[in-house]
Amino acid sequence: MAKKNAETSQQTQIMDKLVSLCKRRGFIFQSSEIYGGINACWDYGPLGVELKNNIKQAWWRAMVYERDDIEGLDASVLMHPKVWEASGHVENFTDPLVDCKSCKLRFRADQIPEENLKLKKCPECGGELTEPRKFNLMFKTFMGPVEDEAHIVYLRPETAQGIYVNFENVYVSMRRKIPFGIAQIGKAFRNEITPGNFIFRMREFEQMEMQFFVRPGTDMEWFEIWKEERYKWYLRIGIKPEKLRFHKHGPDELAHYASAAYDIQFEFPFGWQELEGIHNRTDYDLSRHQQYSGKDLSYYDDEIKQKYIPYIIETSAGCDRTLLAVLVNAYDEEDTGKEIRTVLRLHPFLAPIKAAVLPLVNRENMPEIAWEIYKSLKPHFKVFYDDSGSIGRRYRRQDEIGTPFCFTVDSQTLQDGTVTVRDRDTMKQERIHKSEVLDFLKEKIKF
Ligand code: ATP
Repeated sequence: MAKKNAETSQQTQIMDKLVSLCKRRGFIFQSSEIYGGINACWDYGPLGVELKNNIKQAWWRAMVYERDDIEGLDASVLMHPKVWEASGHVENFTDPLVDCKSCKLRFRADQIPEENLKLKKCPECGGELTEPRKFNLMFKTFMGPVEDEAHIVYLRPETAQGIYVNFENVYVSMRRKIPFGIAQIGKAFRNEITPGNFIFRMREFEQMEMQFFVRPGTDMEWFEIWKEERYKWYLRIGIKPEKLRFHKHGPDELAHYASAAYDIQFEFPFGWQELEGIHNRTDYDLSRHQQYSGKDLSYYDDEIKQKYIPYIIETSAGCDRTLLAVLVNAYDEEDTGKEIRTVLRLHPFLAPIKAAVLPLVNRENMPEIAWEIYKSLKPHFKVFYDDSGSIGRRYRRQDEIGTPFCFTVDSQTLQDGTVTVRDRDTMKQERIHKSEVLDFLKEKIKF
């Protein structure tokens, strides 16, 4: 028990340290902080936006550019309200909510111990709980100047529906044949009852979703393929295999639209939690949109001379959650013998800054040479020039934000044109000629 408590407190400490590093080094800030903040909304700072863009780029590369069977899309956040009736969100996108009559805390009924629910006893203070009631998680607003029922629109709670309603537009305009997929990255909004754990559960977040349209009967085959593909992607961005696992949805967990579902989970400091869902959504979505829109959404399959409503395999990942997993996975404190060095061991492709260029001292033409190198790298990579403080401190500053390489101009550079390359992970140094720096980085930063 004592060991477990110690482990838990160590894990909590890691989260606290990460949250603090994120703020201090410009990764993530609380939204509207000067007004006291707004719950479950976060802003990405200068380094955070780079990391996030790189994660999105790694996803887009793997899902769109490297494949022959997927197209991209960027649909609008606001959609016709009927979309959400057809999708089942108006009726089903609810969480069961209970309130404590004494301490006023609010819980998701499916997230507190069953015993508490049965006895209607608050897990925090022991006070009496209300009966569970359904709470719809969609944010509502009004379109146009009139604020009445007829003008309600929703902020999309998932990006998937934008893909389904454009299924025909995409396959006709791009002359696609089934099987093929549509990929999209974009914001989604959920009025979560119990947000928290930093950016793990937010009310405004970003999803990276891909919907793959297949012939009925081939769906489970594709489901297995996508399950494996998506797992491999997390390994490819550097997540440690021991931190990843599948969780199969049992019959009681399956969403109303799914016939089979797996989550890919990551071991966060607060436990194993979902990063991504892979779902066999059957013909539910297109059938419903056909029914609600009155438009024929069936597909004529040339090969088998048959018309059918395609089945859909969905891969639905959270960008912010992936980013948190990437940070947790990369965070390390290393005892160098002289000090504890904090280092983010990020995959070089994901690192916000790819290299720092440092003159050893601010004289003897070293700044000029370093500046030239910096300028030659700038059109290709996000790089950083730093001439302030001791060289050791400058290296540590880069370690803490995950910069994979530092190029240092020193007195030997003046003699033979070589610079030091310092590796973030090993702290080893080697020398290369300054004219080779760009090619060196290009080789190392590959995805
Ligand atoms: P949960 O059970 O955690 O509420 P979910 O099963 O409702 O999640 P999905 O609807 O499958 O989640 O959403 C797909 C992905 O979108 C999730 O795996 C997650 O990465 C991300 N996601 C969902 N809700 C949030 C949120 N509130 N904040 C951040 N990311 C989210």
